Amino acid sequence: MPRLLIATNNRGKLAEYEVLLKGCGWELVSPADLGLSLSVEETGADYATNARIKAEAFARASGLLTLADDSGLEVDALGGRPGPLSARYAGPSQTDEEAVDLVLAQMRDVPSVRRGARFRCVIALAEPDGDARTVEGECPGAITNEPRGHNGFGYDPIFYIPQLGRTLAELTPEEKNAISHRADAARKVCALLKEMIGERASRP
Ligand code: IMP
Repeated sequence: MPRLLIATNNRGKLAEYEVLLKGCGWELVSPADLGLSLSVEETGADYATNARIKAEAFARASGLLTLADDSGLEVDALGGRPGPLSARYAGPSQTDEEAVDLVLAQMRDVPSVRRGARFRCVIALAEPDGDARTVEGECPGAITNEPRGHNGFGYDPIFYIPQLGRTLAELTPEEKNAISHRADAARKVCALLKEMIGERASRP
């Protein structure tokens, strides 16, 4: 099986991708598996730029096809914030709780009909020679009035899925993987990865 580098040191994310990309025909490896330590600043103004910067840097350094992602929460009543700033909305070393509390405080006076939000995820796939492609995933929902549930991470406890009547933090990992923005994008990447195996096989 050809090897695909997942450009993250986040073990939770790596575990999610192991499940999401199972059966797509590639063996997943991490930077740690390769002894590769590279810190790439997410300086882009949008998810796609950040995902591309990371994927291209890791692909060049490793010589492997590389997947990187960037994701965030967009709240309609906050003009799309926190957006690409989601990981540092409440400060550079925010805890999940601080970020959740800040969003809830900013949403205190917003009525339920105006509490719509979505998670977005962009995944970039880069070849070592720099040719990156991107795909997008989305998960629509609404912001609750208080945190509920203990699963997941980040803004999961305040992200309500109306069809399920629960927040993402009240779902099992399997349930979240069936509907999340990352899973949506990963399904599209899986199709690309399968195509790329075909392309490689037909190269002279
Ligand atoms: P990154 O894609 O790892 O840079 O994630 C950016 C930030 O978006 C994270 O630190 C979380 O705060 C938030 N985020 C991204 N995906 C999720 C999710 O699935 N649940 C909750 N928060 C998320």
